[in-house]
Amino acid sequence: MPSESTLNPRTKGYEFFGPPGALFVTLSVPITTYALYFSCSEATGGCPPAISTPAILDVLGDWSWWKNLWDTEATLIYLCWYAFCVVAWYILPGDWVEGVPLRTGGKKKYKINGKLTHSWRCIDLMFSVAFSTFLLALGLTSGYIWRYGIESFTFIYDKWVGFVTAALLMSLVQGIACYIASFRDGALLALGGNTGNIIYDFFIGRELNPSIGAFDVKTFNELRPGLILWVIIDISMACEQAVRRGGSITDSMILVFLFHFWYVADSLYNEPAILTTMDITTDGFGFMLSVGDLAWVPFVYSLQARYLVFRQVELGSMWTAVVVAVNLLGYYIFRSANGEKNDFRNGRNPKSLKFMTTERGTKLLISGWWGLSRHPNYMGDLIMALAWSLPTGIETPITYFYVMYFTVLLIHRQIRDDENCEKKYGKDWHKYTQLVPYRIIPYVY
Ligand code: NDP
Repeated sequence: MPSESTLNPRTKGYEFFGPPGALFVTLSVPITTYALYFSCSEATGGCPPAISTPAILDVLGDWSWWKNLWDTEATLIYLCWYAFCVVAWYILPGDWVEGVPLRTGGKKKYKINGKLTHSWRCIDLMFSVAFSTFLLALGLTSGYIWRYGIESFTFIYDKWVGFVTAALLMSLVQGIACYIASFRDGALLALGGNTGNIIYDFFIGRELNPSIGAFDVKTFNELRPGLILWVIIDISMACEQAVRRGGSITDSMILVFLFHFWYVADSLYNEPAILTTMDITTDGFGFMLSVGDLAWVPFVYSLQARYLVFRQVELGSMWTAVVVAVNLLGYYIFRSANGEKNDFRNGRNPKSLKFMTTERGTKLLISGWWGLSRHPNYMGDLIMALAWSLPTGIETPITYFYVMYFTVLLIHRQIRDDENCEKKYGKDWHKYTQLVPYRIIPYVY
């Protein structure tokens, strides 16, 4: 049995500007999640609302305002939703798939039930794109709306702040619980999460794969309770808009819903691909991932749909076609770039792309999408992000928050990944960066 210091070496460097940066993000993510609601909502009078700074300070000094952030009913509904996802993970059929090798030499197994598998083969063939947890959630939602009417499913719009609080508390509880549990004997820590600084390690994630038995907390949170909830929230926003319009919804709402739906469906359909992402292979599970997965993704990414409830933009056929074209372009780049790399990392090269071989023996693509930039998939993702905001028109920059934040996130992620690759591949990485000089957007960045 290796000693603790061999198994889990002390982390020497910091990311995110160290503990002050970690504290800043820990506080600013929840604050921004609320702020995006209060700065762009009909309840507060617009997007942005016409409220002066002294008035905001008055509100913040009023205890009853703080009490209204809590909603017992919303919290109970949220807990039921989370429990539903856990039960679905447990009872629905799925394959046990191995992740990448751990530094202990072994491999962890994950239950992937994004896709229906062997025992449901006939249904699998009928719905070639079928993924069980998502389908079950959508089926139950549709059944509920069909039975009780669209008015019955507007409660997420009505209780928005209460749901945000519930999701934030869930992420805080999980972040604290995983941090405390990481001190038990034999826990495998993330190489970047063992600095000894409580604030930093709690944020960045101390334990690599916190689990309860076979239940892996990190992969579960990455794709299910937050991502699927995002689509359910969009459905609630569409219902609220439909109630206000006597049953119909705008073309802009249809576009936003379809874009988000497609993105989530695509991620779930390609669920095994998550096992090679940085989040799973490298980062521990801390508040950064718990709050991102559980609160930020569903409640920030659905901002455009919520905005369209009270600003009912009609695009017309020409603008609809333009926005669809932008989204398709982004999706094409995103999917084909990710596809090229996935194929290549799984030993296939159907397009006969050129590659270079590193001293470690690993090969790096140098043609196709991966010859144009070092992160072509990020470029596709950013183009799609723009397409999701365009349906809201140009009345306010707030609905473009997602594109702006996502640009910062992906640039930061590219820098982190390039640093990791430099450590991994040494001088081969320098050779590679000369062959592929652009980081995300060819000829621009
Ligand atoms: P990538 O999919 O770009 O993976 C980076 C890894 O790919 C590197 O560490 C390296 O690992 C390998 N690699 C790099 N260059 C090459 C090459 N030329 N040939 C072959 N392999 C190479 O990064 P992410 O995991 O960050 O992103 C995955 C997807 O998730 C992206 O499409 C991204 O846009 C999306 N994403 C979405 C987010 C959201 O909130 N919607 C957030 C973050 C990401 P190795 O060599 O070890 O295999």
